[in-house]
Amino acid sequence: MAETEPAPLLGESTPPPPPSALFHRSLQQQPAKVISAKGIYLTLDTGRVVIDACGGAAVASLGHGNEEVIQAVAEQMKSGVSYVHSLTYTTDAAEELARHLIDGPQGGGRFGLTRAYFVGSGSEAMDSALKLARQYFFELGQRGRTKLVARRQAFHGSTVGAMNVSSNVPRKVPYANFQLDNISWVSPAYAYQYSNWQRGETEEEFAQKLVSSLDNHFQRIGPDKVIAFVAEPLVGATSGCTPAPRGYFKGVREVCDKYSILLILDEVMCGMGRTGTMFAFEQEGIVPDIVTIAKGLGGGYAPIAGMLVHQKVVEVVKKGTSSFNHGHTYQAHPVACAATLAVQRIIARDGMIDNCARMGRVLHALLVETFAQAKYVGDIRGRGLFWGLEFVQDKALRNSFPPGVLFAARFQAIAFELGVAIYPGAGTYNGTRGDHAIVAPPYNITPDELIKIVDTLKLAYDRLEKEID
Ligand code: PLP
Repeated sequence: MAETEPAPLLGESTPPPPPSALFHRSLQQQPAKVISAKGIYLTLDTGRVVIDACGGAAVASLGHGNEEVIQAVAEQMKSGVSYVHSLTYTTDAAEELARHLIDGPQGGGRFGLTRAYFVGSGSEAMDSALKLARQYFFELGQRGRTKLVARRQAFHGSTVGAMNVSSNVPRKVPYANFQLDNISWVSPAYAYQYSNWQRGETEEEFAQKLVSSLDNHFQRIGPDKVIAFVAEPLVGATSGCTPAPRGYFKGVREVCDKYSILLILDEVMCGMGRTGTMFAFEQEGIVPDIVTIAKGLGGGYAPIAGMLVHQKVVEVVKKGTSSFNHGHTYQAHPVACAATLAVQRIIARDGMIDNCARMGRVLHALLVETFAQAKYVGDIRGRGLFWGLEFVQDKALRNSFPPGVLFAARFQAIAFELGVAIYPGAGTYNGTRGDHAIVAPPYNITPDELIKIVDTLKLAYDRLEKEID
């Protein structure tokens, strides 16, 4: 019989648990342990229940613990097909998911996006998009097109390719010599911090200025050397749900078209219904050549991401080598696709994207009512259920707190202690602009739940304001 540890005697102290063997982001702090979840509620191992008001990084589109999704995953597993390699095989789960995303009532087919490609993460989706864009010109014989243009204060992912087009300076600190020399950046379309608001510049004027500067940038590089312009329709992690000024994306599309440069939109965070329409670009009146999607796609039930590709690009590759020279072992993974198909079918069946738009209006109104007069909340912006609060030291100057103050991180910590999880993003470009928190609950959230979230955030804010003053 195996020898068992004697139980500690009453009053005898139990030894602390051994350090985690997991390589956590922080090697000092152990994250909270979640043992179960349902809807918007997470239960921690301490017994505490926390409202998940951000689904991690705007991932949980459907909320947690949906029985239909669990069933769909089990069914896929029961088929015995846990995994097959996509070079040789396809599966119903992957085919039906692609069909749903292309030909479904809210699918990309409405915009000429005719093929879906599935990978495991937003970064992989971005790398796939960059490589496909390059291959498009390779097939066309325009091999001198080697350059990519993106925007400053943008995050497109953590893999080396996606990190390269990103301009999230703090996240690149140890990797300066990993930077490719074929990438350059233009100004972010972030009116609150980068427009000339001091001189009364209007939204339209700011948009026009940015579009002209993009055109000039292309001309300086040589437009026939540029592969693609890469941008998020609403910027997530680096500035907190920032929509571009009116007219900006129309202008961007025109300038790209003028030089036959591809437009890659990164909807990893803001896509898949999060802003109240399936794609955020729908609200800009433009269509990208490639759009990347991720977080809300699988709603967190599976690690999945993808890109939807315009027929224009598909045709060129088809007529050329006829094969995308790229791939991942786990692409179009059947279990991930089955989970995602279930998530997307439920979202469509239950009209959840419309609910996202409706609840988004409720959330916006609550945030404005609660925080518009708050001393340190400079801006409240977003769309659908994707809202950011930007914190500033002085609203008249729009200046962020010095980096050491960590306003957003402290706000998040207090809110979490009070029972609401939000997503913080501290001044990520140069430490001085864009200290923000994101609220991004599931699309089936109710008004009462929103009230509870915003009331708790107000308590957290009031406590922090007192600490700062
Ligand atoms: N693009 C955007 C806009 C993102 O917000 C993220 C992640 O936060 C990524 C790409 C990278 O996605 P992942 O973390 O799944 O690799």
